[in-house]
Amino acid sequence: MSQQGYVAAPPYSQAQPGMGGYQGGFGSGPAQPLYGHYGSPPPQPGAMKSPVSSAAGMPPPPVSSQYNLSAQQNGAHIYPAPPAAAAAYGLPVQSQYSSMASGAPHQTQQLTNQMSSMNLGNYGQAPLRGPPPPQASSVAQQPFQTPRPALMSQQQMHPGPQSPTVVGTPMAGHPMAGHPMAGPPMAGPPMTGPPMTGPPMTGPPMAGPPMTGPPMAGPPMAGPPMAGPPMAGPPMAGPSMAGMGRPFPGPPSSGPGGFQQPGLGAEGPLGYPQQAGQFGGPMAGPQPGMPGAFPGAPGGLAGPPQKRLHPDSIPSTTQVIEHDQEKHEGQVFTTNIRGQIPPLVTTNFTVQDQGNASPRFMRCTTYTLPCTADLAKQCQVPLATIIKPFASLPENETPLFVVSHGETGPIRCNRCKAYMCPYMQFIDGGRRFQCGFCSCVNEVPVSFFQHLDHMGRRVDFYERPELSLGSYEFAATLDYCKNNKPPNPPAYIFMIDVSFSNIKSGLVKLLCDELKTILQNLPRADGADSSAIKVGFVTYNKVLHFYNVKSALAQPQMMVVSDTAEMFVPLLDGFLVNYQESQAVINNLLDQIPDMFADSHESETVFVPVIQAGMEAFKAAECSGKLFIFHSSMPTAEAPGKLKNRDDKKLVNTEKEKTLFQPQKGVYEQLSKECVAQGCCVDLFLFPSQYVDLATMADVPSHTGGSVYKYNNFQVEVDGEHFLRDLRKDVQKSIGFDAIMRVRTSTGFRATDFFGAIHMNNTTDVEMAALDCDKAVTVELKHDDALNEETGALLQCALLYTTVGGQRRLRIHNLSLNCSSQLSELYKSCETDSLINFFAKSAYRAMLNQPLKSVREILVNQTAHMLACYRKNCASPSAASQLILPDAMKVFPVYMNSLMKTTPLVGSTELSTDDRAHQRLSVMAMAVEDTQLLLYPRLIPLHNMDTSVEALPAPLRCSEERLSDSGMFLLENGHSMFLWLGQGSPPDLVQNLFSLPSLAHLQAHMSSLPELDNPLSKKVRSIVSSLLEKRPNSMKLHIVRQKDKPEMLFRQFLVEDKNLHGGTSYMDFLGLLHREVRQLLT
Ligand SMILES: [Zn+2]
Repeated sequence: MSQQGYVAAPPYSQAQPGMGGYQGGFGSGPAQPLYGHYGSPPPQPGAMKSPVSSAAGMPPPPVSSQYNLSAQQNGAHIYPAPPAAAAAYGLPVQSQYSSMASGAPHQTQQLTNQMSSMNLGNYGQAPLRGPPPPQASSVAQQPFQTPRPALMSQQQMHPGPQSPTVVGTPMAGHPMAGHPMAGPPMAGPPMTGPPMTGPPMTGPPMAGPPMTGPPMAGPPMAGPPMAGPPMAGPPMAGPSMAGMGRPFPGPPSSGPGGFQQPGLGAEGPLGYPQQAGQFGGPMAGPQPGMPGAFPGAPGGLAGPPQKRLHPDSIPSTTQVIEHDQEKHEGQVFTTNIRGQIPPLVTTNFTVQDQGNASPRFMRCTTYTLPCTADLAKQCQVPLATIIKPFASLPENETPLFVVSHGETGPIRCNRCKAYMCPYMQFIDGGRRFQCGFCSCVNEVPVSFFQHLDHMGRRVDFYERPELSLGSYEFAATLDYCKNNKPPNPPAYIFMIDVSFSNIKSGLVKLLCDELKTILQNLPRADGADSSAIKVGFVTYNKVLHFYNVKSALAQPQMMVVSDTAEMFVPLLDGFLVNYQESQAVINNLLDQIPDMFADSHESETVFVPVIQAGMEAFKAAECSGKLFIFHSSMPTAEAPGKLKNRDDKKLVNTEKEKTLFQPQKGVYEQLSKECVAQGCCVDLFLFPSQYVDLATMADVPSHTGGSVYKYNNFQVEVDGEHFLRDLRKDVQKSIGFDAIMRVRTSTGFRATDFFGAIHMNNTTDVEMAALDCDKAVTVELKHDDALNEETGALLQCALLYTTVGGQRRLRIHNLSLNCSSQLSELYKSCETDSLINFFAKSAYRAMLNQPLKSVREILVNQTAHMLACYRKNCASPSAASQLILPDAMKVFPVYMNSLMKTTPLVGSTELSTDDRAHQRLSVMAMAVEDTQLLLYPRLIPLHNMDTSVEALPAPLRCSEERLSDSGMFLLENGHSMFLWLGQGSPPDLVQNLFSLPSLAHLQAHMSSLPELDNPLSKKVRSIVSSLLEKRPNSMKLHIVRQKDKPEMLFRQFLVEDKNLHGGTSYMDFLGLLHREVRQLLT
């Protein structure tokens, strides 16, 4: 047995061309052939399956106590005693991981079988007649023709390009001008003299080797630039269109019984009630007991063609959400079953990890993969997992344990490099383990040896998270660190644009005041008294000002770099400091900055040099970190990355529209790579008053795990609090730095495409300068061989990163899925919210290369294709006039229609190009809950709620029909929030909420509610603040009166209605889909 067997080649230090330097250890290593190439089938592991008997004489070593030690490291968490239910999970260990699934009854069946057939297609008085369809499906009659979405064709010119002008230096006479460079901390050439007027400080101003040192031998950026097949590939193009015209080749419709699951009894293992359909409705039929009823919509399957559907008769997202919440209320979701479908992302529930990652970390478009690529192609249901590695856990769930395997590092499969996990099967008396991913048999290192019990399970099963849990962390060894050195704690640099508009708007003062508080709340390591994160400060317009805020100084010192062509950092010592130590100097600086630039009329800015400066500072300090850039305008000053106005509304709805969203290449692209290599994440807070070419300016943030916030025409009074809430949330977020993620799979399929605020240097390693608790990576999965129903399919996401405390760790999430050769099983296990997350990201990426019209057509076609395939293969025969929706995808069309109406995809000249680009980029890193809410906002009635009850009033469908003249409604989608006031709002409501006699007295642009001492005011404000608290972003509250002009904005979010800027109503979209499905079936 060789200790080196599981210690990979040093992952960071041995860079390999094109592989980002991680390949040896963290990356694929010897298993490269398995993952490295598209299309090449992996080697068949069959030969490896029979255990080799060479290690027969291995002595059983004492049980290692490493785990206990490391568990203490993690704070006060005590690994819980195995819960009663856990026993079942581990029982039949002999048959490796498949036992996880086959041992227990399948909840998936339970969940989906209870969904009943229902009739969507009736209206008015038609009585329920025909036999309801026997299967899990929804049926909608399609009695009328619907027009395709009308596209707006209006065109409008944007103001022409701004001509760049170079203006003189701005800082005449500010308080610090007298003694800018003089102070003692500057060891080298003293850099005296007036900072602003002298020659630009080219050349190394500091003695010693400050900037020019070895430029980070770590992960080189050598390889192919911006890896991967960028847009064209898998998600949108190809197959979705390809198969459209053909008849469905696949297996004949085999009905629901084809895939029998053992032990599928009458009662579910967790007590899920055998309820009838969650959509409720008037369909009596075989489902008595259906909750709720749609008034005025009695069923009528076999009725004559109808003229108009009642809005209540089409599937309702709010009901699906409500029903799922009721079903899971008060229950614990235990992750001990393979392929188990979790509660909806909108449902409040508690998770207990029993061998699979919590759905908070990983969700899938379907929890049953089709066995073959042919089946996958046939149904066109995308196979993908959405991973949010740092998802926040509620307080009643256990944080991840940290495991240490000692100096040799985490134990891994020799062949595929998968990490020790519950899918490794111990054999040969515990001396070897067979990898669940590649079947390779590995020696168990002496230090990790443990005896097996009579069930064949290690006796330390419950003591080791890596044997019994879906998610945990490993302490990484030096092999996993850059240059084999432990990392330094990360740093945050605040970079403030002090050009004229930011000063004039009051932003700079607002920000500097707030920073004094925010800096006290920097993220800290578990159990640490204070944050290890260092901070630094830069201000800039067309030159950069660095500040020495060393604690020994009485006054901060400024250094100016005006040569922005070759950016460097003019000081090392004193630039990045500990906030606690330098608090006095920093507060002094923050007090001075607004005044220093108060008289500045400089309106030009640079941008790329600002990011470069931050990155260089991290490089010099040998750390990773985040830049917080507060920027006002398009960078037009003469410097690298200078931009021109290229907004052109004439391009909207043309072949060239895509160019509006493509970032400018060159220096921005290069900068992204350098930032990722350094672990430099960029967060951009934009305060534009006009076009800034957001597509380009956001390019670096969107490849470095950063966020982009945008405040159009920023006014302190209206937007100040909104911005500060964003900033506070962002600074305090839990986050990991210098991250690289790899998704490993069992044989037969693999991860082929990745979406997120990420950088890909090769086809497998997802690199992120940082990753916070709200960011997700969507990973597309494809077959390269057949999958096995018995063994299922395994996923392991491994994320190597640096903690805020400067520790190198590996975070592991494992998930096991079912496989089936029956498409009906796949459709039952689909998750609409995850599907739409995938579709949104793939469509938003595709629009960089294809006309929007094609993208929208592909979306419609693929949706129709999924439904047609279901109908042909899974549903029982029914009249052609019915639209059949699989239960798990019942509300998929409303989300899909909403997606096509989002501003990036809608193609209207009335929308701002920057706003569209902004939404496009934000969605790319969104988790499932965020795309769900974005595409189906919450509409909450406030006028008739019981103010004494704590619960939120039940949300309504997002349609104008749900509004009432005398009502008040709150709408939020995670990015915008509206309080809509009906014209006939009762005076007492208006009085209680605004202290005004009537709505006519309401001020325009109000963005907060007055604090009044009455139950309604308190309740509404508490609802607003609880929603703000929950979401990753702050939301500006827009208060709009019915029929006022700003109401138009609000109406865009009523996603079931026709959209102002183009796009059909939900009802019409169902009609459109139905027509497409019928075409496919004939
Ligand atoms: Zn393996």
